[in-house]
Amino acid sequence: MITLKEALKLSKEELENFKNDLKAKIEANPDLNAYIDVNNVGDGVPIAIKDNIQVKDWSVTSASNVLQGYIAPYNATVIEKMKKAGLSPFGRVNMDEFAMGSTTESSFYGKTLNPHAKDRVPGGSSGGSAAAVGAGLAIAALGSDTGGSIRQPAAFCGIVGMKPTYGRVSRYGLGAFASSLDQIGPMTQNVEDAAILYDIISGSDDKDSTNAKMDDKVTPNLNADRKLTIAVLPKYVENASQDIKDAYNKAIEALKAQGHTIVEREMMDAKFSISAYYITATAEATTNLARYDGIRYGNRVDGKNLEDTFIQTRSKGFGDEVKRRIMLGNFVLSSGYYEAYYVKAQKTRHIIKDEYAKIFEDVDLILSPATPTVANKFGELENPMDMYLSDIYTISVNLAGLPALSLPICKNADGMPVGLQLIAKAYDEQTLFDGSLSLEKQINYKGQ
Ligand code: GLN
Repeated sequence: MITLKEALKLSKEELENFKNDLKAKIEANPDLNAYIDVNNVGDGVPIAIKDNIQVKDWSVTSASNVLQGYIAPYNATVIEKMKKAGLSPFGRVNMDEFAMGSTTESSFYGKTLNPHAKDRVPGGSSGGSAAAVGAGLAIAALGSDTGGSIRQPAAFCGIVGMKPTYGRVSRYGLGAFASSLDQIGPMTQNVEDAAILYDIISGSDDKDSTNAKMDDKVTPNLNADRKLTIAVLPKYVENASQDIKDAYNKAIEALKAQGHTIVEREMMDAKFSISAYYITATAEATTNLARYDGIRYGNRVDGKNLEDTFIQTRSKGFGDEVKRRIMLGNFVLSSGYYEAYYVKAQKTRHIIKDEYAKIFEDVDLILSPATPTVANKFGELENPMDMYLSDIYTISVNLAGLPALSLPICKNADGMPVGLQLIAKAYDEQTLFDGSLSLEKQINYKGQ
């Protein structure tokens, strides 16, 4: 598959031919179920769009039954920015319902398969984006990351996935899951493409009150030769599988070979971030999902009266995972438990933020696993708690609002990709991309 950088140089006619071929290729390979629809708008470079990002006149459903029939009345800011830069939304890709999940199994449209092994999950919730890029069915894709949903599927599918600093990319037009954590980001074949797409979608937007209103660009200054100080976390990595530990050691050697300085640091047990995240995220999700009442958006199931219509619509419209989170969110926000859960989670969130700040006092980047294992087989994670634990390495980054990038390092004995992530200070995407590019060069991972 050509890269985004190459595609941006194609003539209008070459691009048209490429898009026709791509459409035919996608239609000839339906088994992965990465795409929900292959819609083409405009004559730009085709980018696959996660089904929770509004593209005007498209059906946009967050892979939920409750949003069947909803047609987006406007473009998300990222789509407007893409169009101005000569990119076009091309196909909407599968995801976990309302971005809640780590496997893309909870989609209304059925599960997506991992392009490297069809009996394994592609990760989630941006599993369609990752599978499409990993299978050579997209040049690049947009995903969203609330607790790891860009970085974890990217690691599982052998591609690059980047979560920007909270506030860098406008959330206007993104279906909200947990508003204080959500960020849209690029999912690409390599680090340079991720930087290009990040530059295009990031920047000022008055329509999002949490937008950082910063317009600095990364690509013009991309520099893989900078010598950085990179923290490794020996204790933190102990709970990861042997595949991940092997990749971690390989990455450390590669970073040393590139002339970076490696220092050892520690993080508190990641289990605290899981608790803080699942309280914060479900509380926010409960509030955000209250709007799906059958009146304002999408699907309606008529009941005996108005209240019954709400109940029927929500009972039939939402899947099990979404319902679980709405209930959990209501519980942690309820007056009797608010102090015990929600307030404690916010305090924990601050401690996590401080912990990162401390490490970043004298280091440029942190090298961390992205996932505790490679992509699991379908049905392997038996209960929701097992699935929640699979986010253990990604979640704290969202709680602290930091930028991070996951990139493929190697394959394990079964041929499954192993990815790791680099984490940077808030708003220091430049260093994140510079360091990632340097690691990518030295590792020289060969895709499919
Ligand atoms: N897997 C995590 C969850 O289920 C993260 C989801 C996400 O980042 N959207 O909440």
